[in-house]
Amino acid sequence: MSSTAEFDVVVIGAGAAGVGAGRALAEAGRSFVILEARDRVGGRAWTRDSGLGFPIDLGCEWLHSADINPLVPLARALGVEVDEYGEFWATKWNTAKLGEAAHADLRDSLTDLFSKAAALAAAGGPDVALGDLIASDHRWRPSLEAVCGWMTGGRLDQVSAVDLASFDDTPVNWRLPAGYGALIKTLAQGLPIRLSAPVKCIDWRGKTIAVETARGRVTAERVVVTLPTNVLAGGAVDFQPDLPAEKVAAAGDLPLGADLKLFLAIEGAPFGPPRDHQLHSRFDRVACCHMHVHPFGRPVVTAYFGGDLAGDLEAAGLDAMADFAEGELAFAHGSSVRGTVAPIAASGWLADPWAGGAYSYARPGAAGARALLAAPIEDRLFFAGEATSEGDFATAHGAYRSGLAAAEAAVASLAEGAVPAPTSSVG
Ligand SMILES: Cc1cc2nc3c(=O)[nH]c(=O)nc-3n(C[C@H](O)[C@H](O)[C@H](O)COP(=O)(O)OP(=O)(O)OC[C@H]3O[C@@H](n4cnc5c(N)ncnc54)[C@H](O)[C@@H]3O)c2cc1C
Repeated sequence: MSSTAEFDVVVIGAGAAGVGAGRALAEAGRSFVILEARDRVGGRAWTRDSGLGFPIDLGCEWLHSADINPLVPLARALGVEVDEYGEFWATKWNTAKLGEAAHADLRDSLTDLFSKAAALAAAGGPDVALGDLIASDHRWRPSLEAVCGWMTGGRLDQVSAVDLASFDDTPVNWRLPAGYGALIKTLAQGLPIRLSAPVKCIDWRGKTIAVETARGRVTAERVVVTLPTNVLAGGAVDFQPDLPAEKVAAAGDLPLGADLKLFLAIEGAPFGPPRDHQLHSRFDRVACCHMHVHPFGRPVVTAYFGGDLAGDLEAAGLDAMADFAEGELAFAHGSSVRGTVAPIAASGWLADPWAGGAYSYARPGAAGARALLAAPIEDRLFFAGEATSEGDFATAHGAYRSGLAAAEAAVASLAEGAVPAPTSSVG
C-alpha cells in the first residue's frame, strides 16, 4: 500500500542542522520540505550588513576545528573564501598585561581545570560541576569564570565537567570574511524551505505524521526536529502525543546559555595592532569581556560577553552594553579610546523566541543528555541540532553534522520500511 503523506521527510528548522539535513535528503533523492519560523535561513548563523561596507556575524563566526571542519571544504567548493590568518589569539597581549609568570600561572590553572575534567570523563565520573574542580578562593577563579561564560554561556557551578571535557576540538580556528551565516545561506540554496512557517504542532499519533504551521499543514513519513533545546523544553511546539519525559528532560538538561556579541565602530584613530587583536579586557573579576579589535583589519571591535553579565547586559540594552564595553576598552587601551567608538549592533539570543539562548551546555550530572536528546523515537521522529552532538556541541559544524546524521538515519528507516506504509492520514 502506498503512502498518503505529502513528503518522505519534514525538517523543522533551517539552521545549520536543518540545512545539513536538507542537503542529505536532496542527495538521497527523497521528497522533503524544511519549515522555518523566521523569515530567513540560518538560525543562530546570522550574517548582517554592518552599514560600514563589511558584514558582521551576530551568531557563529569561527570555523572551529577548521582542519577537520566539514564546512571548510564545502565552502571552498562553492568558491567561498576561508581566512586562515592565525596570529590573533590573546596570548601575547595577556602576557604583556600580566607579566610572564602570572600569565603562565593563569594558563596552567586553566589547563589544570580541564585536565581534571578530562580525568573525570575518562573515569566515567562523577559528573560534577566544573566549578567543583577549582577552589572557591582560587586566585584565577574570576578569570576562569569569565572564560567559562564565553565558552559555555553558563557559570562554573552550572556546567557539567564531564560534558565539557567531551568537547572534541582542534586548536585551528579560521573565519569567513563574508560571514558564517552567509555560508549557511549559500549551502541552503536550492533546498525547499518554507520561511515564516513556525511549527505549532507535530501530531505523530497516526502512521503519517502531521505538522501544523502558521502557514498550513504538511504530512510526512518522518520528521527531523532541529529545534533549539530551550524551544523544545519550553513546550512551544505541541507534540501529540507528548514526547517521552526523558526526551524533554534531556532538552532541559542542555540549556542554551547567555552569550552576547556587541559591535562597535572605531570612528577615531585605530588603536592596538592593526589586525585581529584579541584580548581579555581584565583578569581580576568576572565582569569583563573578550574583545576582538580590528577583525580582518576592519574598523570595528567585537565585544563578547558570557554568563550572567551577558544576560544582564542583553536585558539592559545597547547603550548599557556600549557603555560597559567602552569602559573595558579604556581600561585595556587607555582613556583616549573613550568617545572614539560607537555601537553598530548587538545580538539578543536570550530574548529571541526561536532560540532562547546562545548554545548548549550540560547541567552537572547530565553528561549523558546529548545522546538521549539525539535518540530517534520509533524510527519516525529524528533529532538534530548542535545540542545533540556529543563532541561538536555549541558549534555550527556540529549542528550541520548532526543534521546530516539524522537525515541519513531517517532515509535508512524509510528504505528499511521500519514502519508499515500508512493506511490513512492523520485527521
Ligand atoms: C553569540 C554566538 C556565537 C557563536 N559563535 C560560534 C562560532 O564562532 N563558531 C561556531 O561553530 N558556532 C558558534 N556558535 C554556535 C552556532 O551558532 C550554533 O551552534 C549553530 O548555529 C546551531 O545550529 P542549529 O541548527 O542547531 O540551531 P539553530 O541555528 O538555532 O536552528 C534552529 C532553527 O529552528 C528554527 N525554529 C525555532 N522554533 C521553530 C518553530 N516552532 N518552527 C519552525 N522553526 C523553528 C529557528 O528559527 C532556527 O532557524 C555561536 C552562537 C552564538 C549565539
